[in-house]
Amino acid sequence: MLNNLARRFSSRYQTHLLINNQWVKSSSHSTFQTINPATEEVIAEVQRSNEEDVNKAVKAARNAFDNGPWRRMSGRERGALLHNLAHLMTKHQDDLAKLETIDNGKPISDSKNIDVPLAIQCYEYYAGAANNIRGSNIPITGPYLCYTRKEPKGVAGQIIPWNFPLLMQSWKLGPALAAGCTVILKPAELTPLSALKVGELIVEAGFPEGVVNILPGYGDAGAAMVVHPDIDKIAFTGSTEVGLEIMRNASTGNLKRVTLELGGKSPNIVLDDADMDCAIAQAHIGLFLNQGQCCIAGSRLFVQESIYEKFLEKIVESAKTRVLGDPLDPKTTQGPQIDHVQFKKILGYITKGKQEGAKLLLGGNRWGKKGYFIEPTIFADVTDNMTIAREEIFGPVMNILKFKTIDEVIQRANNSQYGLGAGVHTRDIEKALKITNSLRTGTVYVNCYDVFRENTPFGGYKNSGVGRELGEQGLENYLESKTVIVKTSNDTL
Ligand code: NAD
Repeated sequence: MLNNLARRFSSRYQTHLLINNQWVKSSSHSTFQTINPATEEVIAEVQRSNEEDVNKAVKAARNAFDNGPWRRMSGRERGALLHNLAHLMTKHQDDLAKLETIDNGKPISDSKNIDVPLAIQCYEYYAGAANNIRGSNIPITGPYLCYTRKEPKGVAGQIIPWNFPLLMQSWKLGPALAAGCTVILKPAELTPLSALKVGELIVEAGFPEGVVNILPGYGDAGAAMVVHPDIDKIAFTGSTEVGLEIMRNASTGNLKRVTLELGGKSPNIVLDDADMDCAIAQAHIGLFLNQGQCCIAGSRLFVQESIYEKFLEKIVESAKTRVLGDPLDPKTTQGPQIDHVQFKKILGYITKGKQEGAKLLLGGNRWGKKGYFIEPTIFADVTDNMTIAREEIFGPVMNILKFKTIDEVIQRANNSQYGLGAGVHTRDIEKALKITNSLRTGTVYVNCYDVFRENTPFGGYKNSGVGRELGEQGLENYLESKTVIVKTSNDTL
């Protein structure tokens, strides 16, 4: 069931489970509500998957993998289907952007210019990559022909978060389908709508039955996927806490291959020789993009002592330019937080920051009376041991820390359980490289931030994850390597 607002954007998309290319109700017939975080109104009642539904979806995916036409398709044919999907998404890009905005709260200018195009580009990239999967030929001692084949891992279970619903779906589905896996994908309970709309387009694109199954639901459905013996691989993006649990449970029943993309507390380092206006613009994007709900958010902003005061003055001015309001208004640059739970959690961190002695320079309160909006907030004089400097806030709360020397900032930047991303801002290439090579993080941005490309690996060191998504490494996650050795005659040269 959809409310009127959602119906305006799309009359056809489903609120059901997609299993074996059929839209079905959940076994329990229970539903959950998805809320527009800008208005706190119910958008839709969505069918809630449970363990029984996971069993049905796995059966369909297993059968499609073992017996269906999918396994016999060439990479070019799988790529053609992915191209069809990218084409259909382009055709429906406006609806997709609006759905993403009403379900997630992100500004429409971001949905239109970031989420939707990046998701489409990801499918296009993997459409091409599907026809370029190959093993190698290895000359070995003796009368043998030796080569490797790259084969799909099998049935993949994919669990995604709510902060970039369409994009995370593409990062998961693109490589899995290019590789020839079949998939059970569980969108986040807070944002199931765009994933289901894409499910509709997947059926229309011509993917065979059982290749893509989509199960809207909560963590219990995700947990049932993690222990299912007929799932060969689990890919997860979300909190470190759940990631650790998945890692522990994924060997129940069988030895699943696991990739995890988890939380962060990324350092963003501004040296005193940096182009200050550029560093401020990048620090601003690095923290406030998506209402601060980015795993790679530059949430520990280290600024060198000699430019510290000037930097504070300017970054506060920059944050004051943020436009909060209706996310469907193209002028809005900051929408609401995803839900009441996150909203309360973030306000709790702001209180903690004040209590522990950080200096509040801007914001710190709820914005407006309706919706989960929080003012852009800036804390200065943050120290390493404060809660706001250690824990992932996942909100529009910038924490600025002062440093003196490069060696000191490297040591402090690395002093975190996380290792997802980092930024360095300087005009000095030697300093940039020294810091870049010393940081234990999966990505380092130099004089930029939040640059995401479909062919560029993304993932974390330490508690930020296992493995890399996107690019060739992302495809490898869904492939096994088979070594074939063929006896030849003794006189073969
Ligand atoms: P979460 O990790 O609980 O949820 C992410 C996904 O995992 C959802 O689809 C959820 O249904 C599923 N899930 C939950 N419990 C599960 C379980 N036991 N087994 C399998 N799947 C399970 O994240 P959240 O509660 O939505 O957000 C909490 C915090 O996580 C945020 O405050 C933020 O710090 C972090 N987070 C990080 C990212 C990221 O991109 N790294 C994304 C979202 C949230």
